[in-house]
Amino acid sequence: MNDIEKNLRDIKSTIPEDITLVAVSKTKPISDLKQAYDIGQRVFGENKIQEMTDKWETLPKDISWHMIGHVQTNKVKYMAEYVDLIHAVDSYKLLKEINKQAKKHNRTIHCLLQVKIAEEESKFGLTQEETTSLLASEELKHLTNVHIQGLMGMATFTSNQEQIKNEFEQIKTLFEQLKPTYTQLKTLSIGMSGDYKIAIDSGSTMVRIGSSIFGERNYN
Ligand SMILES: *Cc1c(COP(=O)(O)O)cnc(C)c1O
Repeated sequence: MNDIEKNLRDIKSTIPEDITLVAVSKTKPISDLKQAYDIGQRVFGENKIQEMTDKWETLPKDISWHMIGHVQTNKVKYMAEYVDLIHAVDSYKLLKEINKQAKKHNRTIHCLLQVKIAEEESKFGLTQEETTSLLASEELKHLTNVHIQGLMGMATFTSNQEQIKNEFEQIKTLFEQLKPTYTQLKTLSIGMSGDYKIAIDSGSTMVRIGSSIFGERNYN
């Protein structure tokens, strides 16, 4: 058994079956994705639209493609035909464009709202107040080709487990508060290679795992 196969099986054995595993394959060659595909992985996450589109064109069509990175409005059109879930939606303007492009293809694109939970200033995302008011907004009702199915968050990159746990608990609490009113909210996308166990303890329903499956990324 090669590394990818072994890693994937190991990871899967630690994740409850009702939690979706997004295999984050950004920067990795098609052959790596194919190995994961061949042992049954069908959900892949990418953070660059061009790269994801190249992979979508080449690989079997029963793969569910998730865009996990920050999305520029002018690039939505390149993935509108096929993307299943966009994780990092952080503005009404972006939702409006996703809706417009989805309509052109006669589809509904599923989205998650990215909530800012990390301390670092650099992290994208909505504040809790912005998340709540976006969900409550009248304008949202006109966007018939987008379906907001949950929230996504990224914890601070730190070895401080307490802090990570705290940040995940914040988004979990918000998720639970919103769910009774917005019953379409089903997905809480939290947890990466370094923190997915804490995320699962905090109520994650979807984990995004890259390097623990495919190995460290080389950005050269
Ligand atoms: C790269 C990335 C991941 C996966 O990170 P690993 O630490 O390699 O598991 C998860 N989520 C987002 C948003 C990412 O950009």
